[in-house]
Amino acid sequence: MNFFKKIAEWVRKYDDAHNFTCDICGREVFAGERVCAKCREALPWNSGAICPLCGRRVKEAGVCLECKERPLEVEKARSALLYEGEASRLIVRYKRGDQYLYRAVAELCLSTIKSQFPEAEGLVPVPMTARAKRRRGYNQSLILCEELSRKLSVPVVDAVEKRRETKSQKFLGRRERESNLEGCFHVADRAAVKGKTLLIIDDTLTTGATVSELARTLKRAGAGRVFAFTATSVENKHPFGKE
Ligand SMILES: [Zn+2]
Ligand SMILES: [Zn+2]
Repeated sequence: MNFFKKIAEWVRKYDDAHNFTCDICGREVFAGERVCAKCREALPWNSGAICPLCGRRVKEAGVCLECKERPLEVEKARSALLYEGEASRLIVRYKRGDQYLYRAVAELCLSTIKSQFPEAEGLVPVPMTARAKRRRGYNQSLILCEELSRKLSVPVVDAVEKRRETKSQKFLGRRERESNLEGCFHVADRAAVKGKTLLIIDDTLTTGATVSELARTLKRAGAGRVFAFTATSVENKHPFGKE
């Protein structure tokens, strides 16, 4: 570990030991906690009926229509929370500058990952281009991975690069998202992924296009099994393939 990493590690440990308030509401929390019990309880947990493949909330039990038509490239995807209310506000804050929220987000994700993906051998962040990272100052998927790695003792496999900038996905449908992303990822370290059971980690599953493209790239590079976990997921509100 180099000198700067050691200092960053020390600062992180100091912050962890000196946090007394909830990252969502500011109320007092117990030592080692980032989100208070009241906020935890009020969050929109993805605990009802879900699609067994993409993990998104569904109205009726069973594989969702979108997965029937075009399943994701991962064996299974799961998310801890629904992307709505306080959970979506937390994610938006986390992505728009409140970098320290990685601890709160990780805390809310831990039990789902532990119960759903005990076989994971490596946590894979969604890479950003160097330019995008400079603009935001951090890769939210990578620092979430690093925190989860510390808590779960599963290593981070940061072996993929994003080679070209893609358009903002916000106003694109699934097909457009897919062609926008095609070929944007590249595995720089094939040995790190070969034969491994990998878990992609991201903040939100919307159409799943990013997760699918990354999974496809990992499998082409020889990964064994590929799963995905996102902190939140968007409920599929257009079951008939409207994009
Ligand atoms: Zn709170
Ligand atoms: Zn599905």
